[in-house]
Amino acid sequence: MEYQPSSTRYENMPYRRSGNSGLKLPALSLGLWHNFGFVNDFENSRAILHTAFDNGITHFDLANNYGPPPGSAEEVFGKILHTDFNGYRDELIISSKAGYTMWDGPYGDWGSKKYLVSSLDQSLKRMKLDYVDIFYHHRPDPETPLEETMAALDLIVRQGKALYAGISNYNAADAKKAITILKELGTPCVIHQPKYSMLVRDAETGLLDILGTNGVSCIPFSPLAQGLLTDKYLNGIPPDSRVATSGVSLNENDITPDKIEKIKALNNIAQQRGQKLAHMALSWLLKDDRVTSVLIGASKPEQVLDSLQSLNNITFSEEELTAINTILG
Ligand code: NDP
Repeated sequence: MEYQPSSTRYENMPYRRSGNSGLKLPALSLGLWHNFGFVNDFENSRAILHTAFDNGITHFDLANNYGPPPGSAEEVFGKILHTDFNGYRDELIISSKAGYTMWDGPYGDWGSKKYLVSSLDQSLKRMKLDYVDIFYHHRPDPETPLEETMAALDLIVRQGKALYAGISNYNAADAKKAITILKELGTPCVIHQPKYSMLVRDAETGLLDILGTNGVSCIPFSPLAQGLLTDKYLNGIPPDSRVATSGVSLNENDITPDKIEKIKALNNIAQQRGQKLAHMALSWLLKDDRVTSVLIGASKPEQVLDSLQSLNNITFSEEELTAINTILG
């Protein structure tokens, strides 16, 4: 059946400015790391994208290696984009990345200019796009000079193959250097994508301050710790969960008794706030205005709808924050 986006799609979603840039992002963005590969149900992937866009989620995040197999998420997305979203390209912010192993030989990994430029060309072909809106260096490269990697981002933006440059998984010190180099090149770093959630708080020890001071936005990935920060694992492992169906990036060993204790205690606080734990985990990130958008994943359209409820209450009392910090230790 032909997809017609909802006419009310812009009514409820807040759009927040990405650092000092002109770019605004929806408070929730959708990532295509899981559930969009050739191995997944195409109609389900399609329905997730429809539900997201119908509710104002205008930003879809990809990377060269998303699948499985690597590259297939971009192909699946490209197919859906050109059928269902035909005519809506200018309402979408599409991002991709390069930095992890993608093809054999010395040019298919890390951070050389050769790899970044070739990889983005491949991504554009897979998605059948002329340009992406944001292109990220996916992870720091300990060997390639940072100047070269940042010059590759600058080149890509000047060529019009990406509109904005970003970095991901950079620690505070490396992010500061990258931001400075990009500024000198005249292509500002607009966004940083770190792993950040209630269970992974490294971004709070320097990174967020550097981003805030330099007008670079933060878009946390895995905000639900891949599903741990929901009530789904409190009574075992459901058969349709990421642990049961994928088991690669998240497996049984990640569900420790200590973590379950914390999750139970957080779940109680969420209930006192009138939220589900998944909602509280997302709103807890959005309370900080250096966080422009929170990058969620979803295995079903209903999860997108559920996560949207986080936007109903993004303020926390001092008592709630203290109680949460005490639980997290
Ligand atoms: P989340 O932490 O949001 O986990 C998403 C998973 O949690 C879903 O697939 C689903 O898993 C479960 N879930 C989602 N919503 C709900 C809900 N409301 N109630 C219950 N369960 C829910 O994010 P991801 O780990 O998927 O990462 C999000 C995006 O971040 C990626 O798609 C990617 O774009 C980006 N990313 C970037 C990385 C980087 O290095 N830059 C690395 C990793 C991710 P299920 O139902 O299967 O249990």
